[in-house]
Amino acid sequence: MLKGKSVVVTGSTSGIGLGMARAFCAEGANVLLNGFGDAAEVERLRAGLAAEFGVQVVYSPADMSQATQIESMIALAEAEFGAVDILVNNAGIQFVAPVDEFPTVKWDAILAVNLSSAFHAIKASLPGMKRRGFGRVINIASAHGLVASPFKSAYVATKHGLVGLTKSVALEVAAKGITVNAICPGWVLTPLVEKQIDDQARVNNLPREEVVQKIILERQPSRAFVRIEEIAAMAVFLAGPGAASITGTSLSVDGGWTAQ
Ligand code: NAD
Repeated sequence: MLKGKSVVVTGSTSGIGLGMARAFCAEGANVLLNGFGDAAEVERLRAGLAAEFGVQVVYSPADMSQATQIESMIALAEAEFGAVDILVNNAGIQFVAPVDEFPTVKWDAILAVNLSSAFHAIKASLPGMKRRGFGRVINIASAHGLVASPFKSAYVATKHGLVGLTKSVALEVAAKGITVNAICPGWVLTPLVEKQIDDQARVNNLPREEVVQKIILERQPSRAFVRIEEIAAMAVFLAGPGAASITGTSLSVDGGWTAQ
């Protein structure tokens, strides 16, 4: 369905980003991978996707907290593929602490990676999208872009910010063949969440399964993790022709979390 299209997925060496990169490759799109990781492991991922799906896959190690590196990443994708048709702002980090104890350095890092990176990547990608009269921007926000939890002030602030950025940019480009949307996942079992389960198990001295059911999934009425493939399927749908008139909105994939 997306044959010949070019996709940039930030933070795609792991978790949801990697799942989306894989889904876009499966649709025939060329994909730029980005994120941290062991160089040999990242190269194995890159070459594996290219070989399995017969598409072009390139890797950029750009740090999403650095504006100039984000600009270089978009320039690399444009040079390699000739375009960035679909931009998925996915890179994200988390830190949990009461706001009056929240380390300022963590606050600054979360704002940079979760929110400002999307601004820089959008700013760098839009001129090409406007020239070609086609573009899809997909921002990976969170249920925490719509509702809050305590002790996650920076994360919640950035995810609400992403939802606002989504609406504003969507209005700017609505008549130019470019859509801008946010996906708001509930709990998805990825390395980001594995770490939170381990932390909670340690702090509360509980077995992992009890942490998952009583603490992690307590607010997700389905009482099950959202699968990475479900988020990837939503991203592919938003990138396709069936979603041409969907713009400026937030799509929850959260097992009912934000219906409460
Ligand atoms: P993850 O930790 O598995 O993956 C994060 C990716 O971002 C990795 O590839 C990592 O290398 C990359 N990354 C981190 N800092 C970076 C930086 N400075 N520069 C470049 N890359 C960087 O996390 P995940 O759970 O797959 O999360 C992906 C996105 O989904 C995040 O924005 C997260 O907030 C969002 N999200 C996750 C969940 C969940 O339950 N897992 C729920 C809602 C939203």
